Amino acid sequence: MKKYISNNFSRNIGIYFYMDKPKLTIELIPSTSFYTNVRSILPTKEWDRLRKESYEKANFKCQICGDVGTNQGYRHKLECHEIWIYQKDGVQLLKELVSLCPRCHQVKHIGRSIAVGIKKIAFAHIAKVNKWKKEDVEKYVGFCFQEHKEKSKIKWKLNVKLLNEKLGVDEKLIDEGLRSKTLGKPTWKRKKKKKKIVAKKKRPTKKK
Ligand SMILES: [Zn+2]
Repeated sequence: MKKYISNNFSRNIGIYFYMDKPKLTIELIPSTSFYTNVRSILPTKEWDRLRKESYEKANFKCQICGDVGTNQGYRHKLECHEIWIYQKDGVQLLKELVSLCPRCHQVKHIGRSIAVGIKKIAFAHIAKVNKWKKEDVEKYVGFCFQEHKEKSKIKWKLNVKLLNEKLGVDEKLIDEGLRSKTLGKPTWKRKKKKKKIVAKKKRPTKKK
C-alpha cells in the first residue's frame, strides 16, 4: 500500500501525495522564513564548528546517497543542511543538522536550483536516488511547490533550542543572533555599506 510522503504540515492543510516515502525529499523554506537559518543566527566560527562536527558524525559521506562532492566535480565533499519541522502551532522547530553531498543539497532547495539553471541536473539526481521515473519527479516537485505556497502564508516562529540542548551552543550567542536586526535579510543586504549622507550645499542667497 502506498503511504503518504507528506509531513504533518501538509496533512494539516489537506495536501496529500501518494507515494512511498522517498530517500531524497525536497525541503523548501517558506518565503516568510527566508534567511532565518542557523548559519545566519550564529557567528561564522560557531557555524563552522557545527558543520564540521556534522561531517565527522556522518563519516564524511552524504547521509542520503553516500556520495561526496569531490566525485561530483566540486572542491568540497559535503554541505551542512538544517532540518526543520513546521508545527501546527506556527513554530518552526530545528530538528537536526545533517551532512549532504552538493547534489542532494541542491535537491533539498529545489527552488533555488531551478532559479540558478540546474533544474535538469537536480531532477535527474532525484530520479536516480529515489529510483523514480521522470513523471514521478515532476509530480513530486509540483506537490512540494503547492505545499510551499501554503507554508509561505504563515509567519513562522523559530525554535532553535536544539543548538543549546544538543549541540552545545552558548545560549547567549543564540539570543544575540535571534535578536539581530539583519536576521531574515539576504547576505548582500547585510554587507551593504550605509550611504554617506552628503550635506547639501547651501544655495548662495541672492543679493539685491
Ligand atoms: Zn547525496
